[in-house]
Amino acid sequence: MNLNSELKNVKSVAITGHIRPDGDCVGSTMAAYLYITKNMPDIDVHIYLEKPSSVFGCIKDIEKIENPKGVDKVFDAVICLDTVKSRTGDAEHIFDKASKKICIDHHITNDGSEGDVNYIRPEASSASEMLYECLDKDGIDLEIAKALYIGIIHDTGVFQYSNVSPLTLNIAADLIGYGFDFPTIIMETFYEKTYLQSQIMGRVLSESLMVMDGRVSVGHVDQKMAKFYNSFPYDYDGIVNALKQIKGVDVAIFMHELPDHKYKVSLRSTDKIDVSKVCEYYGGGGHKKAAGVVMEGNFYDVVNNLTAQIARQYD
Ligand code: 5GP
Ligand code: MN
Repeated sequence: MNLNSELKNVKSVAITGHIRPDGDCVGSTMAAYLYITKNMPDIDVHIYLEKPSSVFGCIKDIEKIENPKGVDKVFDAVICLDTVKSRTGDAEHIFDKASKKICIDHHITNDGSEGDVNYIRPEASSASEMLYECLDKDGIDLEIAKALYIGIIHDTGVFQYSNVSPLTLNIAADLIGYGFDFPTIIMETFYEKTYLQSQIMGRVLSESLMVMDGRVSVGHVDQKMAKFYNSFPYDYDGIVNALKQIKGVDVAIFMHELPDHKYKVSLRSTDKIDVSKVCEYYGGGGHKKAAGVVMEGNFYDVVNNLTAQIARQYD
């Protein structure tokens, strides 16, 4: 897919991604925004997302992100990155009303039926990698390259996950050629934690459980703990990876409590378990080795339900 061709004769574009936007979502949507404003100045372009973490403050024009709530403008085209429509939150109505729907996603649980134009590649590392393929190379500048690079490093854990391919690394090589300060970007957007975030991680790890004979680790933050630390979901980034690093663990479960007896669950796994199937069973989705879902019940209900589905895959 070529974005320039898809946007011929288009006068207004809305760009959106998923709720609780992560690095790939912010990187890919911002790269699309910067690319269109730079190369198609006649198009009226808006970007609609939940407010992202302040670590992404290094991305040019990040302050142009708008809250989609109550927006009634009808756009000629919508570009939906890194998600299915149902996870666009308050931007769903913008997607529905847009005349032309362009979907770019790498989630295995996206069946590619929602857009007028669908570019879905589950083996791609990130939506940012896929967007790069859709752009004219001479229309990319340092700021666009930086946003795409941020997306790729976040969804690959800085090039460590199995979703990294030779293509991913070739694209990353092209991107660092634009000359941004990538070591600082990796440190400040991916690894660095506030003292509070480090304290929460330490507490969750020390209170974690090992179940299913040590093959599954479980950590959680309930509302009481969140209130005590005055923490938000983005303060928990990286905790599920730390739970996954425990020797012998095939599946790491991290969950934080939402209002109304619900938990937001993140799962990470090795080759042995397909966690996208586990999450899909309860209405969520994602990738084989990284998936998520919102589940009802108390902590033990959620653990029991998840481990029941995980156990089925060991049979
Ligand atoms: P995370 O655990 O980091 O929130 O998400 C891991 C992966 O699963 C991401 O690719 C994310 O988009 C996907 N994911 C997380 N939560 C949900 C969910 O509730 N529904 C669906 N369909 N995908 C999710
Ligand atoms: Mn992604």
